[in-house]
Amino acid sequence: MLNIYVLTLFPEFFESPFSVSIIKRACDKGLVKIELIDIRDFSHDKHRKVDDYPYGGGCGMVMKPEPIFEAVEYVDKKINAKNRRIILLSPQGKIFNQSLAQDLSKEEHLVFICGHYEGIDERVKTIVTDEISIGDFILTGGEVPALAVVDAVIRLVPGVLGSSESPHDESFCNGLLEYPQYTRPQVYRNLKVPDVLLSGNHKEIELYRRKEALKKTREKRPDLFNKLELNNNDNRLLE
Ligand code: SAM
Repeated sequence: MLNIYVLTLFPEFFESPFSVSIIKRACDKGLVKIELIDIRDFSHDKHRKVDDYPYGGGCGMVMKPEPIFEAVEYVDKKINAKNRRIILLSPQGKIFNQSLAQDLSKEEHLVFICGHYEGIDERVKTIVTDEISIGDFILTGGEVPALAVVDAVIRLVPGVLGSSESPHDESFCNGLLEYPQYTRPQVYRNLKVPDVLLSGNHKEIELYRRKEALKKTREKRPDLFNKLELNNNDNRLLE
């Protein structure tokens, strides 16, 4: 089972997304357990304050180290385990991708720390195992990035997706963007579903999908395409 602990100033932020769709199903099946931990519960201040002015001056407030250290210690005591990853969501972290999602989905315990305000006291990084960014832009807090990472990881936990929802063909799984998908009706506003998909010829369909995935990746993500090791069949399809 994958145990997820989210340390946040806004636990209520997660209530709706964690109670629908695949995340809910994963929790209901007992494959994933999520605990939301309010960092304010570890404040030493009678007003539950968790931030303070930055040393050296500058605008905004910085999240204090003590409540975060103690919230992580609270989790550590509960799980009595050293095999956990402590993930700080941060715009300065490693950019998240599918391969990191796959790596995290194999863990037993994941602890997410959501920053807020101008960020967190740098000393928190001494207890962090991974610093993850979801892209080169600044969000208000770590909640949206944590949700994105949790979602991507949970769907890779074995048993979470049904066999009909297998993640194996999805974009990035094999270094390619996914082939184009169609559903009914066959013709919509003069736009036709490619004949090969209606042919019932599985070999032809497989070749078509491989070709389209290669073409799409070459057009939209040359950075990914250049990393692919193409075989003779792929080269022939692209010709
Ligand atoms: N002052 C910080 C800086 O320039 O690096 C940005 C602080 S940001 C307003 C507040 C919090 O949002 C961060 O501590 C982090 O947890 C989260 N955050 C913002 N953008 C993010 C991103 N692209 N990826 C991951 N976390 C992000």
